[in-house]
Amino acid sequence: MSNSEFTEIIGRPRIQEIISAIGGRNAIDLLELMITEKKGAIDEVYAEKLSLKITEIRTILNRLHYRGLVEYQKTRDEKSGWYTYTWGIKKVEIANLLKKKLQEELEKYQEKLQANESYMMFSCSNDCHKVPFEIAAEYEFRCPDCTEEMKSLDEAEEAEKIRDIIDEIGVEIANINRLS
Ligand SMILES: [Zn+2]
Repeated sequence: MSNSEFTEIIGRPRIQEIISAIGGRNAIDLLELMITEKKGAIDEVYAEKLSLKITEIRTILNRLHYRGLVEYQKTRDEKSGWYTYTWGIKKVEIANLLKKKLQEELEKYQEKLQANESYMMFSCSNDCHKVPFEIAAEYEFRCPDCTEEMKSLDEAEEAEKIRDIIDEIGVEIANINRLS
């Protein structure tokens, strides 16, 4: 995956939500900056470029490191004896985690859709009653008031919305698979 492909992936809104949930709001800016730093940089550089405190940068880096999404190299300055950490991102691991998270979201919405469909409501054309499948079946799909046939209501906009989300997540997964 090239750097521009990586930037394309993390530029997508749904992906940014996932990254924010893992590393906080500034994690996206940090990753975008890190990808452009060829040899990796020290946290001070990132702090300056993003106008954040060093402690804020370290917090984000630690969160990302905990999930195995960034790596660091530790070098010791011979004169001062101080250690310097240069940071780099792990593109493959990030792509894999994003795919895993998207897959989890996808399954969550699929379950939601199933639940929604199993509570399909029925009504006559006069809208006398709105009842679930079991009740409509007891009435043999005839409205007890007007005797019109009871039909399933257009599985609600809700199901439509969930289907759209499922499609969107599918596109994101395909996009990562294509680029990584
Ligand atoms: Zn009716």
